[in-house]
Formats: sequence, C-alpha cells, structure tokens
Amino acid sequence: MDDGKPVWAPHPTDGFQLGMIVDIGAETLTIEPLNQKGKTFLAPMSQVFPAEDDVSKHVEDNCSLMYLNEATLLNNVRVRYNKDHIYTYVANILIAVNPYCDIPKLYAPETLKSYRGKSLGTLPPHVYAIADKAYRDMKVLKMSQSIIVSGESGAGKTENTKFVLRYLTTTYGTGQDIDERIVEANPLLEAFGNAKTVRNNNSSRFGKFVEIHFNEKNAVVGGFVSHYLLEKSRICMQSKEERNYHIFYRLCAGASEDIKKTLHLDSPDSFRYLNQGCTRYFANKDSDKQIMQNRKSPEHLKAGALKDPLLDDQGDFNRMCVAMKKIGLDDTEKLDLFRVVAGVLHLGNIDFEETGSSSGGCTLKNQSSQTLAYCANLLGLDQDDLQVSLTTRVMLTTAGGAKGTVIKVPLKVEQANNARDALAKAVYSRLFDHVVKRVNQCFPFETSSNFIGVLDIAGFEYFEHNSFEQFCINYCNEKLQQFFNERILKEEQELYQKEGLGVNEVHYVDNQDCIDLVEAKVVGILDILDEENRLPQTSDQHFALAVHSKHKDHFRLTVPRKSKLAIHRNIRDDEGFIIRHFAGAVCYETAQFVEKNNDALHMSLESLVCESKDKFVRELFENSNTTKDSKQKAGKLSFISVGNKFKTQLNLLLEKLRSTGSSFIRCVKPNLKMVSHQFEGAQILSQLQCSGMVSVLDLMQGGFPSRALFHELYNMYKKYMPDKLTRLDPRLFCKALFKALGLNDNEYKFGLTRVFFRPGKFAEFDQIMKSD
Ligand code: ATP
Ligand code: MG
Repeated sequence: MDDGKPVWAPHPTDGFQLGMIVDIGAETLTIEPLNQKGKTFLAPMSQVFPAEDDVSKHVEDNCSLMYLNEATLLNNVRVRYNKDHIYTYVANILIAVNPYCDIPKLYAPETLKSYRGKSLGTLPPHVYAIADKAYRDMKVLKMSQSIIVSGESGAGKTENTKFVLRYLTTTYGTGQDIDERIVEANPLLEAFGNAKTVRNNNSSRFGKFVEIHFNEKNAVVGGFVSHYLLEKSRICMQSKEERNYHIFYRLCAGASEDIKKTLHLDSPDSFRYLNQGCTRYFANKDSDKQIMQNRKSPEHLKAGALKDPLLDDQGDFNRMCVAMKKIGLDDTEKLDLFRVVAGVLHLGNIDFEETGSSSGGCTLKNQSSQTLAYCANLLGLDQDDLQVSLTTRVMLTTAGGAKGTVIKVPLKVEQANNARDALAKAVYSRLFDHVVKRVNQCFPFETSSNFIGVLDIAGFEYFEHNSFEQFCINYCNEKLQQFFNERILKEEQELYQKEGLGVNEVHYVDNQDCIDLVEAKVVGILDILDEENRLPQTSDQHFALAVHSKHKDHFRLTVPRKSKLAIHRNIRDDEGFIIRHFAGAVCYETAQFVEKNNDALHMSLESLVCESKDKFVRELFENSNTTKDSKQKAGKLSFISVGNKFKTQLNLLLEKLRSTGSSFIRCVKPNLKMVSHQFEGAQILSQLQCSGMVSVLDLMQGGFPSRALFHELYNMYKKYMPDKLTRLDPRLFCKALFKALGLNDNEYKFGLTRVFFRPGKFAEFDQIMKSD
C-alpha cells in the first residue's frame, strides 16, 4: 500500500477518509488526512485499505473495482447514492440504500418492463433485476427460489419486498384478480402489524415470508404468507414518541360516524393503549419538519394534538378499506375486525382500585363500569364474568385436605392490570393471526409447481436495553447469517474446487456454536427458559443464573460485568447475559423473559374468550389449549412457549430456504434522521458489517470474484478477433486470447467452464479488448 498513493483510513463519522501513510509502525500506520495537511493520527493496520485511483468513479458491481475492500465498497455505495443510484451489486448480492424520497422513473412501469428476461448486470442494478433472476432461475432450474431481504429498521426491507411482489405479479401474472390481491394484501397486513417507531414511521413489527406460487407454465397461481413474532408488548405500552399499531388510530380517525357510534369510539387521546407513547407532536424535529413541508394540509401542521403530523390516519383508513375490498373482504368481515380492535381499546380503559377489605383484592373503579360494558358487548362476553375474570384468579386448593377444590383468589390492582393487558395482547395477536389467515384465503391455489418466497424480517438489533424480543430476532439473524455464509461463502469455495482452481480454502468463522448456545436441547438458552417457565415459582433472576451456570466457559457467553460498555457493567449476573454474536456483542437484560416467553392466558381468561357469544371472537380462540375440564387445569398457569414455537417456525423456514435457490438483498439506512440525501458513512459501514457483507468481501478479496463462462467471453469478444481465432472452440479461443494479450496469470485462472478474475481484472481486461 505504501506506494505514495492515498489510502482509506478510519473516520469516526464518515467511516473512512482519504489520507497518506507517513509512517509505518509494528501494527499501526501514521496517517495524514488529505484534507488536513500537517495533522496526523494513528490507525490500526488492519483498518487501512488501498483506494482506487479515481475515488469519484463508481461501478455497478463492486466486483469490478480494482481493490475490493470495505472502504472501496463504502465509497462506491456513497458515490452512487449521491447520484441517486441507490442499488449496487456485490456479485449477485444487491445492496439497496433507502433514498427516503421518490427517485424519478426508478420504479416507473417502463423501467419495470425493461428488466423482463434480462440477465443480472445487463441493466443498472435494481431490485427488479433480482426478482427477474429469481424467476428465470426458477424456470430454468425448475426449482423454487427465495429472496432474503435484510437490514435494520427503516432500511427499506418492506418497500423492496413490495417492489419484488409487484414486479413478479405484473410481469409474470395472468392478469387476473390474484395478481392484484398479492400486492393489495400488504396494506391490510401493515395496518395490523406495522406501527410508528423512533426508527421508522411505518415499522413492521412482525416478520413475514411471502410466497408467490407458479404453475407448470410458470405463471402466477396464488400466494401464501407466513408470519413470525408479532411484537405484543406494543399493544399495551409504547415507548416515548412511538405509537401502537396503525389500525387503532386509523379506525378512530377514519370510521364513519355510524361505525364510531356502534363501537363507541372517540379520539385516540381517550384510550390508555394509545395515549402513553406518542402523545403530542410539536413538529420540532428536523425530519418531521421536512416531511410536513411536503404535506401542505393545514391539518398536518396543527401541532399539539394526538395526531401524528407525519401520518395521515384518515387517508390511510380509506386506502386500507379500498385494499380490503380488492382482496374480497365484505362489510361484515370488516366490521368483525373493527369490533375486536375497538374491544381491545375499551378493555385497556378498564381501571381497578383496592377494595380496602381484608382479602386485599380489587374492584373496578366506578368510571370503568361503562367501559366494561362496552368491552364485554364488543367482544361478546358476559359483563359480570369479564369483571370476575379480571379481578380474581381460579386456583386449586390443596389446603385442609380438601384437595382439588376450586377457589377464587382475589387479585391485587397490579395483578388485575396485568390480567387485563394479557387479555388484550391475546385478543389482538389472535386477531392478527386471523388477518394473515384471511389474507391467505384471498389467493388460494390448488396446485403449484414452484414458488418464489420473499423474506422480510428484522435484521440484527442492539439497543441500549435489549430484551426477549431482541434475543429472538438476533437468534433468527444468527441462523440467517449461517445460511448466507453457507450459500455465498461455501458455494464460492465449492465452485473454486469444482472448477479445479487450486485456490486455498478461505476460512471464515462459523457461528454454529452461537446457534447451539440458544437452541440446543436442554442446555440451550431457550430450553433453560422453558424449564424456568414450568417451575411453580418462576423468576427471571433464577433463569439468568441458570444460563451462566450451564455455560460457564462458553466462548460466546459472558456476564454483563465484562462488557466494554459502562452502562452494562452495573447489571448483575442474575439480571442479564452477554452473547457474542457474529455482528457484535449484545447484553440482554433478562427481566420479563419468563413472562414474555409464555403465550398462554390464565385459565379463567382463556375460558372466558373461548366461550364468547360472538362467533368471530370464539373462532379466534379455536385450537387454543383449553380443555373442557377446566377444573383439572384450573390450578396451573398453562404454558405455551413463545421461544420454542419460534425455534420450530424458524427451523421450518430454514429448511424451506435450504431447499430453494436464493438471492440476497441487503438494505441500508443512510441516516438516523430519516431524510433524503444524507449519507452517514460510519453508520452505514456498521450496517454492512452486521449484514455479513464485510465477511463476503474478505472472502472475495482472497479469491476470484469476477468470472465469465467461456462461451460468454467468446460471444462478447469474437467480433474484435480475426476469423482464424473465432473458429476455435470457446475454451481454446479464450486460452489463445489470454496468451496473445500476455496477461499475468496471477490475475486470472482458467476453470473447467469459465475464467475467473482477481478483483478488478475482468474490467481491465474488457478495457484492453475494447481499446485494441
Ligand atoms: P422495519 O424493520 O422497521 O419494518 P423496513 O426495513 O421494512 O423497516 P421500510 O418500511 O421498507 O423499512 O422503509 C422505511 C421508509 O423508508 C418507507 O416508509 C419509505 O418512506 C422509505 N423508503 C424505503 N425504501 C424506499 C424506496 N426504495 N424509495 C423511496 N422511499 C423508500
Ligand atoms: Mg418493514
């Protein structure tokens, strides 16, 4: 590198900066930044990279750069982003930067059409190109395909997923209802499963795998959506500046007066489940201002009401109703959904107070009796039964020899609040399951030859405080990372071997040990947690200690005390654990792990909803684990493991993914402010690291990232060659050509079917050919 040329050296906010090496130490380099002459700093050798000669030049595929490393990758993505080229390839992997604005013509119908049937690389990088590749691979290889879209919250996963679905249904549909339905199911899923968070105004709070099924003629015949891990805590509580699921606000804002009256709806301010997080908007954030300026309506500019200026709940309600109609939901079904949503809101408004009696129980506050009546009525429950179920718990007594007698134990205010919230979460999450099930009925298919599945699931997460939700999503990302490694890295190595390149194996860190730490039978964290859930007296502390004691010397697990971050060092051993993930160490705080791991409602509540007079509500709870003999189970708080259900779902998903061909889209969020034309290099670099892109680069850097089949090269260059040469078969043609050009054979290798180039060498070769 020390050839007098500029290098990329670390920069705290930009990721990398250009500089000159002025001194070389044992492990560090002294760098003088190009734009700060005379000022020097030290950088670890491993973090300084060669730069391209022309750093303002960009390429569509990073594999055609002279130097393929994380700094040139970041620079290429940056230069392209600044020119509104948000898509870039690294070989077959697509990097997609969220533009936070509409780029003219990027998704126009004529653009969409132009990608049909075109090989990857023929046209500028695009999500449409990936969709078309998946389709062509499915057709040619007669094999189902999957497209794995990943990235952090707000990176653009859901938007890109929708572009894939729209591309496939528009290009390869049959022009029937089914095509439109696959696209129109989204507004409904998003209404019930998305919410405004600090990271994304339309954040998906569930993961999904959407399959589009094709018949033997490779035309769209139907679809199927699987969903994962709806975030339940949001139903009852939201963090500052966040909201509950969109549907709640949309219903309050957009329902007709008639419906509002039937459902006793009022402004969102009046509901506990809506008025704690995102209460007032004063439009003081830059990002809010920018978006508000684009929305000229004076309504949006009115500050101080429980109305998000960034979201148009009324308009969104109307759009959702249009979508519901398009996918075939009639008015009764629509009202069923709305009734339950309203029921949950009223349930949340029920308040309790101490009775003051010696039994220590609680009762409904006076003002809550109307609310109780609304809720009971909307959910088809008996008002008194609802009240009793919320304020008492059925237990089996073993005292005084009267074994097996059912008694009602009064609950304290806090316990009653918990019972209320547990019921709300259960009802809403069952409602969400129903919405997905109903959506699936909109695009049924009888026979399918193959499918293309698109996975839109949250990427690796690490916050200041990490709980069970982050634990599950990061476990999921470990599994997906392993799959990515398997596909990209192993396939790459296997290809070299198969082609007889004689290239040394490229090593990478396999994360199976981390996956085992979570999911192994008995000793895995998920099983330790389940064991805790089954104890008569559960405790988050006991669980945390059990994890530490079972994995004392595990490379991937450690105690919070050993954290690099001060905020974690105060967490006691019985309050959390740190896992070293592939993307970095995360400290999980185990408070509420036990509770969050249980999907079961307490028996009294379970039987209440199972026996609802409302058929729709009753059906939501069908197949739940209540038995007729409630006496038998009355004493136990039944347990349905959230973690192990997720593990099973995830393993099924991975089995499915492994049986398909796969493509990867890595979405990137350009800045935390959620605004256009702002590229925060360091943040983006960290996202590229977390998505495993950097490890892919390492592998490619050491190998031969560019490659071309003999006959492809033959067809590309025969017109530049004399007739005598073109009579050779493609392989000999290539050999003769390379020899004639006197190319350095370190720069390319001949395999059995193709030529492999060292990074950047294919592009150079191409230039020589075309300039000769
Ligand atoms: P989460 O994990 O929170 O669900 P996500 O990765 O699914 O996040 P999206 O909801 O797809 O993120 O994107 C966030 C927002 O960014 C979108 O609502 C949209 O405003 C904007 N956005 C994303 N991709 C594009 C794009 N290609 N063109 C224009 N705007 C986009
Ligand atoms: Mg999303």
